[in-house]
Amino acid sequence: MKQKLKIIIGLLVGISLFTSFTTFYAPAESLQIRLYTHLKINTISLNVVKGTYKLLADGNLIAEGGDESQFKLILKGDSIQLNHNEKIIGNFKYLKFVGSETDEIKIRLVNPDRKPRVYQNNVSFSVSEEYIRIINDVILDNYIAGVTEAEAGSRSNVEFYKVQAILARTFALAHINKHVAEGFSLCDQVHCQAYYGKPKDGNISKAIEETKGKVVVDENLNLIVAAFHSNSGGQTANSEDVWGSHTTYLRSITDTFSIKMPNSKWERRMLTDDWLTYLKLKHNFPSDQPEGKEVALNFKQDHRKVFLECSNSKVPLKNIRQDLQLKSTFFSITEINKDSVLFKGRGYGHGLGMCQEGAMRMSKSGYSYTQILNFYYKNIQLIDLHKLSFFKDE
Ligand SMILES: [Zn+2]
Repeated sequence: MKQKLKIIIGLLVGISLFTSFTTFYAPAESLQIRLYTHLKINTISLNVVKGTYKLLADGNLIAEGGDESQFKLILKGDSIQLNHNEKIIGNFKYLKFVGSETDEIKIRLVNPDRKPRVYQNNVSFSVSEEYIRIINDVILDNYIAGVTEAEAGSRSNVEFYKVQAILARTFALAHINKHVAEGFSLCDQVHCQAYYGKPKDGNISKAIEETKGKVVVDENLNLIVAAFHSNSGGQTANSEDVWGSHTTYLRSITDTFSIKMPNSKWERRMLTDDWLTYLKLKHNFPSDQPEGKEVALNFKQDHRKVFLECSNSKVPLKNIRQDLQLKSTFFSITEINKDSVLFKGRGYGHGLGMCQEGAMRMSKSGYSYTQILNFYYKNIQLIDLHKLSFFKDE
């Protein structure tokens, strides 16, 4: 009884300390990640695949689950019906599987139907907005490992995993309060960082271990906005040209590592009339005048430009990219016949910070993770997050 109470109080104190102080970069022991954030969940099947769990139902310890334990959770109004090995245990408002550092639990959504995933540490279930809400109370480095695989893909190079892990850690700590009003730290979608549980590639835990605690800060020791993208097309972008705000570290650089990679080029055809009409109607660009039409049909970018410009009219390329769902803003336009134009594009993504394909090539060519980070981010330092609060307090 005493031990159970101890666990619960310990967790609550950890969470409230962690979410209350935005500038206090204490070493985070755990984060609360909402799982399957975008889904409306009715039924879940789960089993403990490693270790032993304590199961708390509405705050009371009701079971200790080992390897053979099979649970099913079914939404019943504003409660969750708990089944254990096909038997109904009861209806509860809040269920929490409390594990240890190395324990693992396999979750399979039944309705809606999804493939199983393995999660580590604590997982809780409650009813929120008429569906089951799942929160993974996970140790920081376990979360970082999951994000690294989700963002970098599996079977990558260890040095590239290290880069991705440091960026994931930096992002997590900089955005720890992103969903605090909803009762958790981060969601598991790209809105925050993609996270699908424990990674399959064993090299990832090696990368996490060898970069333990490392985060990227700017010259004022503030955590950077750890932006990255798939392919820069040969040149990265300045933050003010994409997001409107200047940073000392997101600076445009020439990036030859990204050339001749899978996402370095793209093409799109469009009817000339559609292109000219779009510019006129959406942006009041003078594409109905000879001069404006000439610009619109012969637009070239050898280096990244920010606007499509003609006399007083300036259309931000980022708006064109968004409206037309283009892979990048780094494109040139040519007329290919009387009625159509061809967009010839370079790169994939917003172009800020690390280019994943370029970084992957650098890692395979023998560059270290520090060299890769210093190539894509300017005026940065790598620092242990445990030292960050010490330096900031000085
Ligand atoms: Zn989010």
